[in-house]
Amino acid sequence: MPLLELDRLAVNYGPIKAVRDLSLTVEAGEIVTVLGANGAGKSTSLQAIVGLLPVHHGSICFDGQNIAGQSTERIVRRGLTLTPEGRHIFAPLTVEENLKIGAATRSSAEEVSRQWDQMMELFPILASRKNQLAGTLSGGEQQQLAIARSLMSKPRLLLLDEPSLGLAPQVVELIFDLIGRLRDMGLTILLVEQNVHQALDIADRGYVVSGGTVVLQGTAAELKISPDVQKAYLGHA
Ligand code: ATP
Repeated sequence: MPLLELDRLAVNYGPIKAVRDLSLTVEAGEIVTVLGANGAGKSTSLQAIVGLLPVHHGSICFDGQNIAGQSTERIVRRGLTLTPEGRHIFAPLTVEENLKIGAATRSSAEEVSRQWDQMMELFPILASRKNQLAGTLSGGEQQQLAIARSLMSKPRLLLLDEPSLGLAPQVVELIFDLIGRLRDMGLTILLVEQNVHQALDIADRGYVVSGGTVVLQGTAAELKISPDVQKAYLGHA
């Protein structure tokens, strides 16, 4: 049984059908990437999965249970969390305060403290800046904070929406290195990315989305050599 299974998901903004009949699966332990042009419906899908947008039809099964229609809080408690595009950290709060907010769904103080220690180990830059205001961090540091904040809820499945957006090449490397380490630690990841090369290098499988639905799917190796992917996303004629 897949850890996450979307079956014919549809999400509308009023009359706009942003996601239509989108089906995909993510197995435990995998990194699955979702590729597609701007406006393809990638962010909309991720927001619907975590209950931030209503599902028009279709199902979202997480760990065997249909979570479509549940509150975001309940979904996060189940072990699914989203690091949104654009980070959305709380700029006027400190690094530490941002991380504590990420743990809001955890009730055991001991668990939160364990998670905090793990974040300080995984993100040394955040450890050294825990009293700094989040808004004064660099873009790469803010992205690390956004991911660490998501991890404070101790997810089993992490949804990452364009984590490398707007970052310098070296910082992009650092973020992808981190994603690899998270997978090695046992986390399952659904990754939306514009950096198609790096996304296919790190992912096990991928889906190409266009017009709100899946138009191509395969292993990362298959997608890398697909003429359609090469033409549209990898800059080959
Ligand atoms: P991007 O990488 O640019 O974010 P995307 O694949 O994530 O692209 P979505 O942001 O999911 O695409 O957008 C899917 C479609 O829904 C687009 O046609 C977009 O214009 C539309 N859309 C997105 N947000 C809204 C909104 N709040 N109201 C109305 N339409 C929206």
